Amino acid sequence: MSQAQGYAAQSADQPLAPFSFERREPGAHDVQIDILFCGVCHSDLHTARNEWNNTLYPSVPGHEIVGTVTAVGAHVKNFKVGDSVGVGCMVDSCQHCAPCDAGEESYCENGFTGTYNGNLYGGSENTQGGYSDHIVVNEKFVLKVSHTENLAAVAPLLCAGITTYSPLAHWKVGPGKKVGIVGLGGLGHMGVKIAHAMGAHVVLFTTSANKKDDALRLGADEVVVSKNEDEMAAHANSFDFILNTVAAPHNLDAFLTLLKWDGTMTLVGVPAEPHPAPSVFNLVMKRRQLAGSLIGGIRETQEMLDFCAKHGIVSDIEQIAIQNINDAYERMLKSDVKYRFVIDMQSLKQGQTAA
Ligand code: NAP
Ligand code: ZN
Repeated sequence: MSQAQGYAAQSADQPLAPFSFERREPGAHDVQIDILFCGVCHSDLHTARNEWNNTLYPSVPGHEIVGTVTAVGAHVKNFKVGDSVGVGCMVDSCQHCAPCDAGEESYCENGFTGTYNGNLYGGSENTQGGYSDHIVVNEKFVLKVSHTENLAAVAPLLCAGITTYSPLAHWKVGPGKKVGIVGLGGLGHMGVKIAHAMGAHVVLFTTSANKKDDALRLGADEVVVSKNEDEMAAHANSFDFILNTVAAPHNLDAFLTLLKWDGTMTLVGVPAEPHPAPSVFNLVMKRRQLAGSLIGGIRETQEMLDFCAKHGIVSDIEQIAIQNINDAYERMLKSDVKYRFVIDMQSLKQGQTAA
């Protein structure tokens, strides 16, 4: 065992605070990683505050991890000490169901093990995530990071990147397709960048009129303020695909009516409370589809990282010291993120208080 330092929530109503815990020694197939940066996903907040009613405490969130390999087990083939690597939302899965066989571990029929708030296969421990100084992960769930110039800005690709890339690829977004991205937060801004790089015509829907210029800079061709009914109506029946990243309940019909015949809206945002039920009429009249998507498999995550490296895509980030994580959560709740907070893990070691 090695001693790890991190930040944990001890209960739903307490702020995150310093926490010391044990990590296993690397086994034969494990990679030990010194964590340099960890992105702050809205799922971290949902979990820290038990908004999905499944949190095991104490809980160290964080599943957008980049760092440097410091040790490898005897049978590790693909990584060596000194490599720059990433870890996303998963650290294990059953490895023998149909989705695992297909390399789609996020849909593991026996449940994948989350990087935090999950039980390891063959063990009963609660996994602890990336708001910490190091982590030990089976090499199957470790990703190679090739664009190392700005590692902090690569970290959010491990969740926000793959969660948007996977549905955009699955629903064949590309040239000639009109694609909507709903919400310009961590996921949404990656969705805009990736859909633009895939060659689609990208329309960003936002509730924050002041994000308009940023959305155009990030790669949107058009921006619609979704509270403006006239702006919305101008796009009726015109979208091939809409990716909805919103983290709060809202009226889905406002977006479903913008899909054209056979169009699909895929939800990736997982609000704590349900959305109002959408109108069946809006779905049946044009054979529209309402779908969901969960992160992406390890193979596809590597494909996404390589795609982003090739296209020079990283996240737009605001780097913070870990001591400021609770303020960052409050700002995230106000949609005030430009466009992903990333924790500099040096701040943990140095005990700094300034951002
Ligand atoms: P985020 O950075 O907080 O972004 C969410 C955005 O949604 C906000 O920036 C805001 O954009 C918009 N929004 C917020 N409240 C709204 C409201 N009441 N009505 C309309 N729009 C609203 O969050 P995130 O990290 O991108 O995560 C988004 C959601 O995806 C979370 O629920 C998270 O748990 C989930 N998630 C799912 C997966 C998956 O695999 N399916 C993976 C990761 C995260 P505007 O200001 O532009 O309106
Ligand atoms: Zn996430």
